[in-house]
Amino acid sequence: MLDEKLDDIYDEVLRRNPAEPEFHQAVREVLGSVGPVLTKFPQYTAQKIIQRICEPERQIIFRVPWQDDNGDVHINRGYRVEFNSALGPFKGGLRFHPSVSLGTVKFLGFEQIFKNSLTGMPIGGGKGGSDFDPKGRSDNEVMRFCQSFMTELYRHIGEYTDVPAGDIGVGTREIGWMFGQYKRITNRYESGTLTGKGLSWGGALVRPEATGYGAVFFLQEMLKVQGREIEGRTCVVSGAGNVAIHAIEKLQQLGGRVLACSDSQGYVYDPDGIDLPTLRQVKEVERERLTKYVEYRPGATFHKRGNIWEVPTEVALPCATQNELAAADARLLVANGCLAVAEGANMPTTPEGLDVLRAGGVLFGPGKAANAGGVATSALEMQQNAARDSWTFAHTEAKLGEIMSSIHEQCAATAEAYGRPGDYVLGANIAGFVKVADAMVALGLI
Ligand code: NDP
Repeated sequence: MLDEKLDDIYDEVLRRNPAEPEFHQAVREVLGSVGPVLTKFPQYTAQKIIQRICEPERQIIFRVPWQDDNGDVHINRGYRVEFNSALGPFKGGLRFHPSVSLGTVKFLGFEQIFKNSLTGMPIGGGKGGSDFDPKGRSDNEVMRFCQSFMTELYRHIGEYTDVPAGDIGVGTREIGWMFGQYKRITNRYESGTLTGKGLSWGGALVRPEATGYGAVFFLQEMLKVQGREIEGRTCVVSGAGNVAIHAIEKLQQLGGRVLACSDSQGYVYDPDGIDLPTLRQVKEVERERLTKYVEYRPGATFHKRGNIWEVPTEVALPCATQNELAAADARLLVANGCLAVAEGANMPTTPEGLDVLRAGGVLFGPGKAANAGGVATSALEMQQNAARDSWTFAHTEAKLGEIMSSIHEQCAATAEAYGRPGDYVLGANIAGFVKVADAMVALGLI
């Protein structure tokens, strides 16, 4: 239930943004937390901060024409939603996936505002992408697509304006092709314009690992409050991409036993624990489907179209995509004695799923807090670019650890201050919101 005033605002969001269910979901979740803040700080209502924060500063939609290897022409749609720059330049990834629509990009951009605020770094929120499907495309095809995408995007971005990074379907390879095209068009080696770059051309150590590692650090902090640790616990991680692989790596380094991971076709169960070198060989070197994993590991089984949440586990990290953990999945987790869920992906748990986890007493780390390590390390990459410096792995990982622990502390302290101890969703939403709202008030009517 929303407060009456917020209910009206939400209705207006629905009316102004039809057919964007993921965006509606993300807005509703934040509005569900901020009621008490409006009572405490009436200036936010007077300044219509909620209405302003729900309206992106700028939305860019563009045509992306490209040619495949046979010379056939394809047309995709590109998006960049520059949502809020009260705290710094717009910052957020680019997603290449056939499911991408304006509503997807808006939900991700909206979440990004509060996530970036929680990091404590000077970055605003934005997101972008395309409905382009990189699967099954040759390197040359993906490169031509990236070049065409950047041929339009370049005029909207820059180190002081908007700094994109990767997300689903966009890793170091794609960032390289986009950065190359940006450099070529602008004639400027402006490293701070994109993050997630390769090490030899302006990238930073720990950026590839940061989202997955950060989610595990957040999990570790949540468990610590209860006097528990990761060591010896069974873990299940959905996804098999950048975030999942690095979450698995950190869980294993901390003594967790990761039994399963997944992709969009099903999940792998490995009773001896997921073998990371094999997973990396299949996903990063061969760029193959996860089914290939079981060819290398005869003890493991692939469950086609299977539901990964049916695997009994103490710890669950959804690291694939939005709304992948629904109420029925949450019931399975609770029935199997799951202690904690930390979201590596963005909004992977449905509102009904969250209700079930809450009722089951499961610790829950929401994505905007738990997966903020990726964007925080992107901001560290920007710092290094600006200073023409590069830090060691150990130094950067230690910084990431400090940032995640500070985010955990902010969420926990805010939840406590608002009378809901242990509610990290409320804590993250309020702590993230207040900083942005204060900046918006201070900057005048923007
Ligand atoms: P990748 O493209 O590297 O991997 C995505 C993984 O999720 C793949 O295993 C993919 O399987 C699976 N997946 C994607 N879409 C679906 C779907 N519709 N149904 C089932 N499985 C799906 O992306 P990332 O690891 O970078 O991103 C994963 C999540 O983490 C996303 O929600 C992203 O927004 C979030 N995130 C990422 C950050 C980053 O730094 N990269 C930062 C913060 C959040 P398949 O190959 O079969 O499609």
